[in-house]
Amino acid sequence: MGVARTASGIVLPAAGMGADAGALPLPWAGEAERAAVQSGIVTTTLEKLVNWGRYSSLWPALFGLACCAIEMMGTGAARYDMSRFGCEVFRASPRQADVMIVAGRVSQKMGPVLRQIYDQMAEPKWVISMGACASSGGMFNNYAIIQGVDKVVPVDVYIPGCPPRPESLLDAVVKLQQRIAGDHLSSKRG
Ligand code: SF4
Repeated sequence: MGVARTASGIVLPAAGMGADAGALPLPWAGEAERAAVQSGIVTTTLEKLVNWGRYSSLWPALFGLACCAIEMMGTGAARYDMSRFGCEVFRASPRQADVMIVAGRVSQKMGPVLRQIYDQMAEPKWVISMGACASSGGMFNNYAIIQGVDKVVPVDVYIPGCPPRPESLLDAVVKLQQRIAGDHLSSKRG
């Protein structure tokens, strides 16, 4: 990204870039929307308003199962600042969670537990499968590990890697937000 450094050391956006050039380039918020908000006028649909509320406050359910959970915890630390995306509020209660982040291999023993927690989450709810083990069993191709958490719950976003870095989890969150932004209130989830 182009930047210019002043004599005092302050970094400013380079000439020709907008005042909010450093902001996340969300596809559903264009110049026209920003200009309208600044002038105090907002017109939208109920569907867009509801979706905005949903994708702006994706509270994760804690479900760390193995080493990928360390990266998930790292994502929640100050360096990565998950609250930029409204999803830093990890909940231990499924009633207060919107998205289950399955971080690590899912054993046969944990499969029914994971499903029960998922069932206790209120609709609408989403699932992120974090890492090779959660998505496909990874290197654990044996009878003790479920070969993909999508055999237990429906998965919305898969993250590859062993382990995925925090940037990958943030990328998955943004992809999920973009998907929720295009949801229709009348559509049913499987
Ligand atoms: S994908 Fe790698 S880091 Fe993640 S749970 Fe499996 S072995 Fe551990």
